[in-house]
Amino acid sequence: MFKKILVANRGEIALRIQRACRELGVRAVMVYSEADRDAKYVKLAEEAVCIGPAASALSYLNMPAIISAAEVTDAEAIHPGYGFLSENADFAERVERSGFQFIGPTPESIRIMGDKVSAKQAMIKAGVPCVPGSEGELPDDPAQVRRIAKSIGYPVIIKAAGGGGGRGMRVVHTEAALINAVAMTKSEAGAAFNNPAVYLEKFLQNPRHIEIQILADKYKNAVYLGERDCSMQRRHQKVIEEAPAPGILRKLIDRVGDRCVAACKRIGYRGAGTFEFLYEDGEFYFIEMNTRVQVEHPVTELTTGIDIVKTQIMVAAGEKLPFSQRQIQIRGHAIECRLNAEDAFKCIPSPGRITMWHPPGGPGVRVDSHIYTNYFVPPNYDSMIGKIIVHGDTREQALARMRTALGETVIEGIHSNLALHRELMVDAKFMEGGANIHYLESWLADHAR
Ligand code: ADP
Repeated sequence: MFKKILVANRGEIALRIQRACRELGVRAVMVYSEADRDAKYVKLAEEAVCIGPAASALSYLNMPAIISAAEVTDAEAIHPGYGFLSENADFAERVERSGFQFIGPTPESIRIMGDKVSAKQAMIKAGVPCVPGSEGELPDDPAQVRRIAKSIGYPVIIKAAGGGGGRGMRVVHTEAALINAVAMTKSEAGAAFNNPAVYLEKFLQNPRHIEIQILADKYKNAVYLGERDCSMQRRHQKVIEEAPAPGILRKLIDRVGDRCVAACKRIGYRGAGTFEFLYEDGEFYFIEMNTRVQVEHPVTELTTGIDIVKTQIMVAAGEKLPFSQRQIQIRGHAIECRLNAEDAFKCIPSPGRITMWHPPGGPGVRVDSHIYTNYFVPPNYDSMIGKIIVHGDTREQALARMRTALGETVIEGIHSNLALHRELMVDAKFMEGGANIHYLESWLADHAR
């Protein structure tokens, strides 16, 4: 096992990784920007290094500063968390070339999966079901593009090969709008992702977002830890996640889970990863893979009893996966609500000082958050300030626990989306389970205030 790991992230995930390190008896070096000097995990750290000013480009995305911090503190490995440099193959390569272990897959795996076109091609080869679409990148010839779209059938969605974070996508309903939309998406993708390549997919009308968590070691052992339902989204950003996915037959999950495991073995994947699918009419369609730990990993930890972050660290240190597929059991139901510093219904960011924070507690309640009373939420980063996660024997019990937990929670001084979560937990459609990816957007439109 490593003696020391550098945590190249901030916020709740930095604290989560620090906790995993403590349990493993590994020293965690925290890095922070000038805006995060007073962060909880920095105060709790045995060692912490300031890596630059508030702007992410100069701190959390500053590769030389992060690698120097690892050098001066004698860390052996770097955990990238999620977001920032976590899916940057060049960073993973630089980390390894500088003599550190990157806690994640190889740069090659990140590169293949980071390009949605090559990821899809790899998945098709591995027998993972994909959304029908263009074979690879779209050609320049408009006549050919029209022909491809026609054969897929409208509506189609134009997606950037290098896209991420819900950006670089455009839905097209008619042939008349196609060529212009392709040109616009290409030029946006070139500017935003430095890669103008785009491809076409059938736009699924009412799918759910279902994803499969996998874990793999360096010896081609891989397992899947069941699924998560992340259909409650706003602007392609997840708001609530749960496991298992209500109403989907176990045998369907097992079938797609097996394909994901086969794909991992085929590409020599190691570490934690998530295969994201759209699910409609009993069929799964792969959309992309995330080659890192995800925000919503706790719902899987609570239903499987497996610590995903600790396992990431163990397999990076060269240990074998300590469990086989047969040993993985799904128990009960877990739900996660993401807490954001934003207006609950208009979703406008609300950074500033938290004058009161009272987290919930009790049986089956977990809070992953770095905030505290008197903490200042900096305006420079993502608005997520934590997550409330509950576990119960049944979905009904988990819902009841979440209602109780949200009822106990107090956040004052800034706006938060607590009120949104409280309303959704008593919403008839959400309570029934199985809402599709458009449900929350239309709910918000109906409840505009
Ligand atoms: P990103 O990498 O930006 O998160 P994804 O490919 O994961 O992009 O897609 C994000 C979201 O966009 C999905 O969860 C879904 O809501 C929507 N989406 C993507 N592809 C399709 C599709 N073919 N049909 C319908 N919705 C889609």
